[in-house]
Amino acid sequence: MDFPIQPFMDENACYHFLLDLVHPEGLHCPRCHAHEGFIVHRYYREPVLDYRCPACGRVFNAWTGTVFQGTRYRPSMLVLIIRGFSQGETTAQLARELGCSRRHLLKLRHRWQSQARSDLDRTPLKDTEVEADEMYQNAGEKGIPHLDPDDPPRRRANQRVGHGTKENDRPPVVGIVGRQSGEVRLEVVEHADQATLEELVKETTIAGATVYTDEWNGYNHLPEMGRKHATVCHTPGQREWARDDDGDGVREVHNNTMEGIWTGVRNFLRNFRGVNKEYLEQYIGIFECGYKIKTVTLEFLRALLGVKAVTNPST
Ligand SMILES: [Zn+2]
Repeated sequence: MDFPIQPFMDENACYHFLLDLVHPEGLHCPRCHAHEGFIVHRYYREPVLDYRCPACGRVFNAWTGTVFQGTRYRPSMLVLIIRGFSQGETTAQLARELGCSRRHLLKLRHRWQSQARSDLDRTPLKDTEVEADEMYQNAGEKGIPHLDPDDPPRRRANQRVGHGTKENDRPPVVGIVGRQSGEVRLEVVEHADQATLEELVKETTIAGATVYTDEWNGYNHLPEMGRKHATVCHTPGQREWARDDDGDGVREVHNNTMEGIWTGVRNFLRNFRGVNKEYLEQYIGIFECGYKIKTVTLEFLRALLGVKAVTNPST
């Protein structure tokens, strides 16, 4: 059910929220970095005022040089767009509620999500115990017109099950989660072959870490890379969720953390009724960025908007 609320929002409050978001160090002149004494130059898009810098004469507003530059949306619209993207609301619903163009919103979403994706932490997990697993997500060419009569669009959902590749519209997503930190690294890949999986495990874990996986043989050579390896059987009929290998009563061989994350990923993606495979990594990235937080943080929003962190707030 759509519930448009934009007409009831306080433009001034929204403006100050966004100002703080994109200017963690406070508003300053984009040319000479002066940060006080601005003279109001124009009021016509209040509360987004145009200022003139007293030091260098540059005319600018709070959006100049930021992700919002050139936007004609009112502050309340921008807040609702950011809220919708953060919460995984579909572009279509957001466009209806805000009475704006779906195509334009989708472009904005892809731009912001790609920023968030490129800002994700890619340093190795410090955990001594990690779980690695893959899922396969049906993702085709949503939104791209099919002009080739020999390659008609799919009418029904992809019927393939099990392992797939990006090429056949069932790209693998590889996940590695730290048991101690709860931090996760998710990657959309072309193939979940041994070389790809080994490379990812190497990049995302520390030497000596124990890697828990299922029996997919892509992980067979982890010991040669200085990682300990423990497997859990996921074959239907002989599924076992947790196994006590060393007999100490703690059933440590399981992939429950990763399984839980996949459930979250599937629920998140289901909402969109199909994501174009070229953009899948962005949606996975947004999921990764937000999955550990229950209430949105300025840090999350700044990652979404590509705002660089404050280096030294006192200067
Ligand atoms: Zn200036």
